[in-house]
Amino acid sequence: MKQDYLKIENLYAGILDKEILKGINLTISKGDVQVIMGPNGSGKSTLAEVLMGSEEYTVSSGDILFNNKKLNNLKSFQRAKEGLFLAFQYPVEVPGVNFGTFLHSAYKSITNKDISIFEFILELKKESKKLGIDETFLSRNLNEGLSGGEKKRMEILQIAILKPKFAILDEIDSGLDIDGVKFVTESIKILNKEGITFLIITHQKKLIENINISKLNIMSKGKIVKSGTKELLLQIEKVGYKDFLKNV
Ligand code: ADP
Ligand code: MG
Repeated sequence: MKQDYLKIENLYAGILDKEILKGINLTISKGDVQVIMGPNGSGKSTLAEVLMGSEEYTVSSGDILFNNKKLNNLKSFQRAKEGLFLAFQYPVEVPGVNFGTFLHSAYKSITNKDISIFEFILELKKESKKLGIDETFLSRNLNEGLSGGEKKRMEILQIAILKPKFAILDEIDSGLDIDGVKFVTESIKILNKEGITFLIITHQKKLIENINISKLNIMSKGKIVKSGTKELLLQIEKVGYKDFLKNV
């Protein structure tokens, strides 16, 4: 039997007086790669943010459990310590902050491991090599002059190095070229094999068609309206989401 890992029970959440998530139920088992697709404005990013504990949103009812522990009242950094990861957002480039230095501090605070920058860089090089990332990146400043695709590679590298138990990727494919998408797909496969559970939010069939996904969920208007196998992709490709939205 697969172990339930992340359990979302009847979750309602939103901002101020606007309810965005309207009764989400979703169970993700250890080792799963689950996918959420759905029209724009469905609440997918809100769900990712709420799972990670963003203070922008308020949970009005329902529970988020991870490893049988209730997360509702934990801050983002505490959830990260529990093993949750949401690819960091980079609203601005951070000149002068080196990627390695940045990740080193994140690593130390999340894992409580006291590893020297020297050892850490060795580890970073090892993980970069494993995923096929050019290590000259590593000496660059945080997102300074990185292309969209390079930023996405850095997000994946963060997962490889921080080794969260559960990683959420919210539209990591946006702005990626074909090689970038392939890189993300291959990386997800490698990291999943190493034990990381994934929740992938995407619009792109290409990103997930070669991955052995456990479940595909379709979200609309704040609810999961359909869950099924990868076969649902064919239906989505043919007619879009409209078949799934009829009774919402
Ligand atoms: P998706 O990721 O599925 O496209 P979002 O979660 O981004 O959907 O948004 C769902 C709905 O909630 C949209 O109508 C969006 O405008 C609204 N929303 C999300 N976050 C905020 C926010 N911080 N302030 C105001 N409205 C928001
Ligand atoms: Mg979104």
